[in-house]
Parts: sequence; C-alpha cells; structure tokens
Amino acid sequence: MPGMTMTEKILAKHSGRARVSPGDNVWVDVDVLMTHDVCGPGTIGIFKEKFGQSAKVWDKERVVIIPDHYIFTADEKCHRNVQILRDFVREQGLKYYYDPEFVKNEPGMPNPYRDPTKTSYKGVCHKALPEEGHVRPGEILLGTDSHTCTAGAFGQFATGVGNTDAAFTLGTGKTWLKVPATMKFVFHGEIPPYLTAKDLILAVIGEIGVDGATYRTMYFAGEGIASLTLEDRMTLTNMAIEAGGKNGVCDVDEKTLKYVRHRSNRPNWEVFKDDPDAQYHSVYEWDLATMEPMVAKPHSPDNKDTAYNCRHVKLDRAYIGSCTGGKITDMIFAANILLGRQVKIPTYVVPGSTEVHRDMKTLNLRGVPKDKNEKSIEEVLADAGCIIGPSGCGACLGGPPDTFGRLNEPLNCISTTNRNFPGRMGHKQAGVYLASPLTVAASAITGYVTDPRDFVQARIETGVAGVV
Ligand code: SF4
Repeated sequence: MPGMTMTEKILAKHSGRARVSPGDNVWVDVDVLMTHDVCGPGTIGIFKEKFGQSAKVWDKERVVIIPDHYIFTADEKCHRNVQILRDFVREQGLKYYYDPEFVKNEPGMPNPYRDPTKTSYKGVCHKALPEEGHVRPGEILLGTDSHTCTAGAFGQFATGVGNTDAAFTLGTGKTWLKVPATMKFVFHGEIPPYLTAKDLILAVIGEIGVDGATYRTMYFAGEGIASLTLEDRMTLTNMAIEAGGKNGVCDVDEKTLKYVRHRSNRPNWEVFKDDPDAQYHSVYEWDLATMEPMVAKPHSPDNKDTAYNCRHVKLDRAYIGSCTGGKITDMIFAANILLGRQVKIPTYVVPGSTEVHRDMKTLNLRGVPKDKNEKSIEEVLADAGCIIGPSGCGACLGGPPDTFGRLNEPLNCISTTNRNFPGRMGHKQAGVYLASPLTVAASAITGYVTDPRDFVQARIETGVAGVV
C-alpha cells in the first residue's frame, strides 16, 4: 500500500480513518471556520434559515470573524454588513472577532485608525489568521474566501468554501470533502536576491494554467522552499487557487513551529509530512538559479512573461498590498529598492494587516527595530513619494468607487496582488500586471515594467520581520 501525503493524512485524521486516497469522499471535523464582511452576512442568513433563528454555532471558540474587505468606504451597505457581523458575534458570544470600531452605522467615510496598535481591527483575514494564532499545522481551516488556502504554508489543510457550506459548518462543525490528489512542485537551490515567491508562483501558474491544478493539492517542496521566509511561503499557497487548487501546502519546519508556538494558545496540534513513497498526480521541478523575475500580463494570472520582456510597457500606477503582496517582508523588499529614489507614477501602498502597518513604523530596512536616527520602512516609502493607506483589502478587488487606490479609469497598473481578471481592481478596461514587490517597486521608479535586477545587487535581509 503506497504512503500518504500531508493533505491525505490530515483528512484521514479528521475523518476518523486510518487512511484515505484521492477521490474518496469523507466527512471531516473542522478546526476553525473563518468569515468576513463580504460573505459573513450571507453565511449567517443561511445558517439562521436552515438551523433556526435561535440556533447556536457548533463551537463559539472555533468561529473567527475578520472584517477586512470594504472597510474604508462611505458605502452604507458595507457599514451595514459590519453591523450584521457585530450583532451575530454578540448574539452567539463568539470569542474571536476583530472589530473595525471606527466603522459606524452612519453615513460618511470612516476615519482610519490613527495608531495600528490601538485598534481591534486587524486588516486582511489571511494575514490576520496566523498573526492572531488561528493557524496550526495538521488542522483544517475553512474560510468563506478563496484565498483561505494561504494558511497551507503552515502545514495545514486550508481551503475556501461558499456561504452554504460555511453555514453548514457553523451549525455542525463538519464538512464533506473529496480527497484531492497532490501535485508536487520542487524548487532546487537557494532563492536569488532578485526573486521572491511571487516569481515562483507566477512561473508555476504560467506553466500549468489557471485550471492546471483544479481540485488538487499544490505541494511546494525542495530546499528552495525551505530557504524562504514563512511570509514568502504564504505567497505561494495564497495563489494556489489561481491555478484552481483545492489547497496549497508547504512542509513544517523550525520556522513554522517557532511562529505557531509563539502565536497560538492551543497546544494540541500535529505535524504531518509526506511519506517517502507518497503518490503524486505529477511532479514539476525548477532550478531557482535559472529563473527570472516574472509578470502575469492582463487579464489572467497564467498570462506569464518575464519582466524584462515587458520593459516597453508604459505604466500609469503601481500598487503594493493585499494578502499576497502586503506583508511586512514585501514592504521591506519594496522599500529597499525605493530608498533614496522617487516614484515616477502614483504608487499606492496598503499594509496587509495592522500588525504589518505597526512594523512598517517600527522596523528599519533590514527588518530589525530601528534606532532613533534610522528611517522606518514607512518613512522610506513616503519619502519616495508613495501614497500609504490604512490596512485592508483596499483596491485588490476593486470595491466601491471611493476605495483607496481603486482603478477608476482604464489605467495600466503593476501590482503585488493575485488576480488580474478584467475589472478585478476597478475599471473593466484597466490592465493589471501582477508582479513581485521587487518588480513593482523597480517599475514605480521608471514608469515602465522593469526587471528588478536593474536595482537589486545583494540579498535584501528581512531580519526579524514576520519571524514570530
Ligand atoms: S487582499 Fe485581495 S485577495 Fe486577499 S482577501 Fe482581500 S480581496 Fe481577497
């Protein structure tokens, strides 16, 4: 009998079986269910309709609600959505809710938090989940958001579900899953200074296509992945869904264990790894030394090209943010390129979480606490002419017209986000080029898509940023 993969072992454990195989349908116990301001109200509505107006969630300590999408807008429907979440949290006595207390049920644009350390608001759910200790190896996390797969970077099974499935889990703590087959993506060598995980995942999606991993696990392996920071691994698993993946996973190592032990208050979780004789649907291999900085051209994440080949593409805007490219290490990468330089095009920066925003104020360009004579990451970005907004999803998915950084005209934008379908960041005729924070920062300086090798000579250290 062949060995099992990490994903198969997690699903076997949670379904009470000794083993499962790809294609098996299993009922599993869910460890955490997450929802946000866009899908939470719909999920709550279905939950109440199907389980009854006075029904209680299966476990009030395993439901996590993180408003993040449409926060900084005057749109009253968006304010109402936040209020629905608040009412539900109060009614159910939920323990984990991260309120944007500055969003009032009244007309007008909410005032952003003044100090990122003095708000219960957290920013983008996929960044906030591990920060707040809700992500652990070997567990099952469901979320009403397709990028819930991000948490697979911590060696867990994490996937997005629709409102109906989420409502069922709210009432029962269970869900029904088909066991996915695993595709293995092996990266050899150490990552060069001009590449980030974004280049790797754009290369993968460009090779297999946006449907190339449909309902499969994407397992990122090899010493190249081991050499990445946890945050960069999150960039890989975050974009598994852009190839249709059910989930993405990375191996658990000391970096993972250190982070999770520091953040989580639940001690009982288990680390799983692939058996040496685990069966894979397919195996792909890359040598990191031969890879180039990549972009995904409009209008699909698999429309791959090298940054160098696109050097004649004139840009109108740059955007650094989202759960993919708004982490503290992404900010450090961008700030190191922008240090002492000026952006040529409007460049919007949106921290992925309030913790990222705090770190942008307190860390220096090497990712360690700055001394009083040093510039913070935020100061370097502001000095370069970047426009820095409050944490959240921002313009990653367009949002209401008053959303910070939204493409309200048919502009060409280079962005660290994860999707570039028509209209994704606002205007349907806008052209979005997906790229790494290094490539976006280099392009912001020139106004054209720019290979970051023109600016990066040595490895950019990220210090303690995102380590625990
Ligand atoms: S940052 Fe973008 S991709 Fe991430 S959760 Fe928000 S809208 Fe979705």
